[in-house]
Parts: sequence; structure tokens; C-alpha cells
Amino acid sequence: MSDFITGQEASIRLGVFVGTLLLIALFEILVPRRVLTTSKVSRWFGNLGIVVINSVALRLLFPISAVQLAFWAGEKGWGLFNIMDFPYWLLVALSIILLDFIIYLQHVMFHAVPSLWRLHMMHHADLDYDLTTGIRFHPIEIIVSMGIKFSAIVLLGAPALAVVMFEILLNGMAMFNHGNFRIPTRPDNLLRRIVVTPDMHLVHHSIVRQESNHNFGFNLSWWDRLFGTYQAEPEAGREGMIIGLTGFLDVRYARFGKMILNPFEKGDGA
Ligand SMILES: [Zn+2]
Ligand SMILES: [Zn+2]
Repeated sequence: MSDFITGQEASIRLGVFVGTLLLIALFEILVPRRVLTTSKVSRWFGNLGIVVINSVALRLLFPISAVQLAFWAGEKGWGLFNIMDFPYWLLVALSIILLDFIIYLQHVMFHAVPSLWRLHMMHHADLDYDLTTGIRFHPIEIIVSMGIKFSAIVLLGAPALAVVMFEILLNGMAMFNHGNFRIPTRPDNLLRRIVVTPDMHLVHHSIVRQESNHNFGFNLSWWDRLFGTYQAEPEAGREGMIIGLTGFLDVRYARFGKMILNPFEKGDGA
């Protein structure tokens, strides 16, 4: 099992990533939610370029993957779940849910702490909202997030299977809930009782800071409801709202160089 997961991890993740990307891109063409204000080609070039840089940075800076770390912690017997005598399926389910909660808390922290907000601004400086916004994160934010994830895996003693499933789920859900496609109101309301839908996360990209400090979740919608950070709709409506950050409403922020330098510019609230 462990050999299979570690041996196939990269190809499984790449396959799911490409499959999800193509599926959501198809929905964005068939049932678009909003008309994009900037060129899709330049945005995709910048946003996907950042993904390549992030993957290389993680490979260079972290000698092992999160999954390999989970195997290692399991062998050493480290972490809460490695000393608990729970059924395996329950440990996997609890680990996925708790990792999602940690990602929610981390996102709240990236908005609340000024130096972390500078790193996170790049995600919000996108003038449009589509599946590539979901993978647009500054390399330093990605490195800090990986450090937090590594600590969480060791402290929890999360099984490697849970870590693989969580990483695939988070990656796919980030593209799903940034998707610029329309889900009819009834199914959307049903879906968002459990998961974060595109219309729910859209509120988080509002230029109004009071609104962007809502809907922090990436997978489960429970955390926002539980901690009072849930907002159903933007004040100006989904078509009328402005996406982006005050001070960064410029097409130049779709360019790769500007994105990398974003944390070092004087920004909204930083
Ligand atoms: Zn955010
Ligand atoms: Zn987002």
C-alpha cells in the first residue's frame, strides 16, 4: 500500500489535476457566471506560470512530500492518531476533516496578520475569477502553507492515505470553487450546506474588505457557518460586485513579474 501510494502519487495527482482543470474549463465555456474583464490568455499564462514556480520551489525546499512525511511519522509512532486505537477508516476521515479545519484557520490568519496578508494579496489581486484563480498563490505563501501542513501532519499523526486524499481534494476543490460557472440556486444551496461552491467563495473575492473577510473555507462550508464568517451573497450582487483589491485594479497584476513582486508593494490594508 505504502509503496503504491508513494510510487504513484505524482501521476495520480497530475492526472486528477489535469482532468479537473479540463472539466471545469468546459463548464466555464458552457455556462459562464460572469463576463471576464481581462484577457483570459494573459491571466492563464501568469496563473499557470505561478503553479510551475510553486511546484519547483516545493520540490527544491522540501526534501520529502507531505505523504512521505505521514509515512515517516507513522513508522515512528508520532502524532495523536498514531497512539489512538481507532478504526483506520475513522482516522482517515477525521484527519481529512481536521486538515480542512486547519486550512480554514490558516486562511483566516493570512487575512488577519499584516505580513501574511501581504503574501496572500496576490490571490485577491486577480481582477477576474476563474479556475486558475484557485491555484494562484504566491510562492512564499505556498512555502509557509507547506510548513504549516507538515507540522499539522506530524502533530495529528494523519495516515498517509488521508494526506493523499486531502491534497487531491483540496487541489480539485480550489479549482471547483473558483470556477466561473453557474450552478442553479437550488442545487447550489443544497451543495453549500456541505461544501464550498463557486458562488459562496466568490464573496471572498469582493473588493469590499468587510466581504472578503468572509467565506474562508476551501472544502467544507461548515467552518464559516460555525465561526460566524459566512456571508451568503455580496451586497452588490454576483454580477454587479467588483472583484480584486483596492490599489491593484490594473491589468498589469495579471503579469507574472507583477505577481511575484506583489507582497513588496504597498497594498490594501498592508
Ligand atoms: Zn483570502
Ligand atoms: Zn480564493
